[in-house]
Amino acid sequence: MSTTAPQSERVLSTLNVDGTRRWLNPRPSPGRWLNRRRAVGYGLIALFVTLPHLRIDGRPPLLINILTREFTFFGTTLYPTDTLLLALLLITIALSVFFFTALFGRIWCGWGCPQTVYLELVFRPIERFFEGAPGARKKRFGAAGGFLKFVVFVLLAFGLAHTFLSYFVGTDNLRQWILGSPLDHPIAFVVIIAVTGAMLFDFGFFREQTCIVACPYGRFQSVMLDRDSLVVGYDRRRGEPRGKKRRDAKQPGDVSLKVVHDATHAEIAPEPGDCIDCTMCVQTCPTGIDIRDGLQMECVNCTQCIDACDSIMDKIGRPRGLIRYASQRSLEGEGRHWFRPRLVAYPVIIAVLVTIMTVLLVTRESALINVMRGPGSPFTVLESGMVANPIKVKIHDRSETGATYFLSVEGVDGGQIDGAGSVELQAGEMLTESVALVVPSEAFTTSRIPVRVRIRSEDFDKSVEYIMRGPVATGGGN
Ligand code: SF4
Ligand code: SF4
Repeated sequence: MSTTAPQSERVLSTLNVDGTRRWLNPRPSPGRWLNRRRAVGYGLIALFVTLPHLRIDGRPPLLINILTREFTFFGTTLYPTDTLLLALLLITIALSVFFFTALFGRIWCGWGCPQTVYLELVFRPIERFFEGAPGARKKRFGAAGGFLKFVVFVLLAFGLAHTFLSYFVGTDNLRQWILGSPLDHPIAFVVIIAVTGAMLFDFGFFREQTCIVACPYGRFQSVMLDRDSLVVGYDRRRGEPRGKKRRDAKQPGDVSLKVVHDATHAEIAPEPGDCIDCTMCVQTCPTGIDIRDGLQMECVNCTQCIDACDSIMDKIGRPRGLIRYASQRSLEGEGRHWFRPRLVAYPVIIAVLVTIMTVLLVTRESALINVMRGPGSPFTVLESGMVANPIKVKIHDRSETGATYFLSVEGVDGGQIDGAGSVELQAGEMLTESVALVVPSEAFTTSRIPVRVRIRSEDFDKSVEYIMRGPVATGGGN
């Protein structure tokens, strides 16, 4: 890990007091936690790349369509008109984050967040491949390593931008953009280049600072965590006082080390702790912190320091787990409290919200109808003696397959629709049709008469009341 200033002379783990960037080049620490994170991380990458190409009822499993303002989630599509459902869904997601954070700490940051997964499992390994691991004397590609790395980063960012955008515009739109000339889709072209640039900036330059200074989740964690949440922590009681040790070779095969701690430590605590102050946990940290300083906002719970320290403990013949997953309370020597009010309250509220959403979804009509007055004169007396009222019928299909909707007038004898008597809509399509309601003039015993505009399809039937205007009996005004 490169550094330009000691820890006491830093503002952040990535910022020196003089404002210069403290570039991090963490040393990877092989171990069981890294193996687990690799399995999870590469699985998530495969899922992330594949998901937009899968279809459930003709739609992708997950699509936040910014072009049509629709949100599709595993077979269910929410539209801008589903305001209550969308609000409940957002609250449920937020509460779920609170719940899992209270239970497992920042497990999302270290294991699931695309920022960490791509940075630590894709971009940084590629960087090490081309430019060498920290401390490596011989570089595989010599002076050309930096340039080759940049080329690969650009290609990766370009591919990543397409995958990312496919969650927001859909793979069908994206395919059209890719296959068409940039001149046909200038805005799409600019969007792709801009997202590619943003990816390159993030993974090539900004990196861990996204977690440290930009991500709101990291900032909120202090209110979401409690002393019983699972965190990656250093066992101060076992590790301190820390001190350098030397290998004791008295016994064949004995790799335990002796303490050579300084006088100050000896005066305060004659019994040395297990931490030999090798700083491996600091050198491997992708956010540049020292876990031994306690719980810090910068820690993304990546577990690299656990692997680093476990390997040291193995070498000095001490039990693993000086740094481990544990609650702050258990690290301080107390038992972990599993029953906590928030761990009961969150699931109960989430269960209630999910129930309400399920009821709303099951009872949701497959179309939204709105009947409005049309432009121009409120009524016209036709040559046939019939009275016509212009109206606009807005139909928003919310079915999964689309439907043909038939329009008719009810509530008055001889009523009919002048214009399109039926409209065909694709799933999720919205259309406003201008037609006229036509009824015999004899129906107007007063200047306003109620009629029903009926809109029906194979599995939808709704009548909307509408007040028609017309001449009274012998042709009175409106
Ligand atoms: S890796 Fe373990 S032994 Fe080495 S400095 Fe960190 S806590 Fe101490
Ligand atoms: S302190 Fe440990 S768990 Fe936290 S970010 Fe650094 S290496 Fe990862």
